[in-house]
Amino acid sequence: MHQLTLAEIARGLADKKFSSEELTKVLLARITQLDPQLNSFISLTEELALEQAKAADVRRANGESGALLGAPIAHKDLFCTQGIRTSCGSKMLDNFKAPYDATVVSKLAAAGTVILGKTNMDEFAMGSANESSWYGAVKNPWNLEHVPGGSSGGSAAAVAARLLPAATATDTGGSIRQPAAFTNLTGLKPTYGRVSRWGMIAYASSLDQGGPLARTAEDCAILLQGMAGFDPNDSTSIDEPVPDYAAGLNGSLQGLRIGVPKEYFGAGLDPRIAELIQNSIKELQKLGAVIKEISLPNMQHAIPAYYVIAPAEASSNLSRFDGVRFGHRCADPKNLEDLYKRSRGEGFGPEVQRRIMVGAYALSAGYYDAYYLKAQKIRRLVKNDFMTAFNEVDIILGPTTPNPAWKLGAKNSDPVAAYLEDVYTITANLAGLPGLSMPAGFVDGLPVGVQLLAPYFQEGRLLNVAHQYQLNTDWHTRTPTGF
Ligand code: GLN
Repeated sequence: MHQLTLAEIARGLADKKFSSEELTKVLLARITQLDPQLNSFISLTEELALEQAKAADVRRANGESGALLGAPIAHKDLFCTQGIRTSCGSKMLDNFKAPYDATVVSKLAAAGTVILGKTNMDEFAMGSANESSWYGAVKNPWNLEHVPGGSSGGSAAAVAARLLPAATATDTGGSIRQPAAFTNLTGLKPTYGRVSRWGMIAYASSLDQGGPLARTAEDCAILLQGMAGFDPNDSTSIDEPVPDYAAGLNGSLQGLRIGVPKEYFGAGLDPRIAELIQNSIKELQKLGAVIKEISLPNMQHAIPAYYVIAPAEASSNLSRFDGVRFGHRCADPKNLEDLYKRSRGEGFGPEVQRRIMVGAYALSAGYYDAYYLKAQKIRRLVKNDFMTAFNEVDIILGPTTPNPAWKLGAKNSDPVAAYLEDVYTITANLAGLPGLSMPAGFVDGLPVGVQLLAPYFQEGRLLNVAHQYQLNTDWHTRTPTGF
């Protein structure tokens, strides 16, 4: 039963082949048995899960239907869940029980999902390896000596290991797409404003966006349907109708114009990944797509701009965790300053402290123009590159990451080496565009992802292209040995 996708679960439940309660019990047992190897969960919510599963079964028995009614999922541990710890992967929030549900959580609960638990993540979503969590590193089910990617590494490892069919995640600079690539999943970062950020603990507010992580594009469509939509509580939420994503999965790719940026294939890209990307291009050509070389000339400036903007916003967002308003409080403070210093020093790990310092520096009076303002200008250039490209093509295709998942610890002593791995993903966040990563093959037994980007609000186009590709390839069906 643990091999079933969300779409198959919906059919099985509708046909009364099994109940949500039965399925939930199977998955909870599987998590207890297998997760100690992976560390993909921070909290398990067994009792709540069984309660929600029974309630979903009753709703179905009363004639309700719905693709998510009775579907077991988990939430990345930065979505606030009422009465359940929301840690953000940090000692700072180890004892934080949110007084309310995030909009994503309440929408999915209303659709009938069953929450199995909260998944591990890089501390405050800062990272690409899921090694900065206060709850320990997450392991990649494809090779337990390798990282699963980050910051949504717990959601990715759990779904890849078939502990559950799908999970929520967030993407500030690649944290849905990169772990999807590293664990052979399909992950979608929606357009900025498509999914509510209310109750999603902020890292960098102008870049953060929630989205689905699952095994197939079809399942991403189902989960996104439950997450997306206008939210008056989020001032950056956009009031645009949400299309029926599942119904849009049958479009022909005949004549689809795919842009392939020449800058994507420069030095730094593993040539074995380049070859797999070429194979996926050929596959899409067979389905009728037309390939066009394009240019994104400002891509080289994106990493430096991102690593000014994201820390700047983080330094501001994280100022609320001071041991007074929110978060860990040190023991026996001598005075107020001592309380602030020690609470923050003890509560935040080294990567978070590094980013707060970089951000505070970039925003400081004498340096604001030189760093933050300059970075914002680069951001506009990056966006303009995409706008020009989308005049000529319908989607943009390239690798999700320059390398496959690295070994645990390999980049710990050199944060910049890890930052450089975000080269293909962060531009979509800077521009606010939707992006999807889907399985494209393997290098040394480790999964590789191909990334698709589309114009604003064209999530449906991305999902359709990925679905057509997955109907004609079987990479996404491969299962890691031992799981
Ligand atoms: N790796 C990037 C960072 O550390 C992106 C993380 C994310 O998307 N949350 O900022």
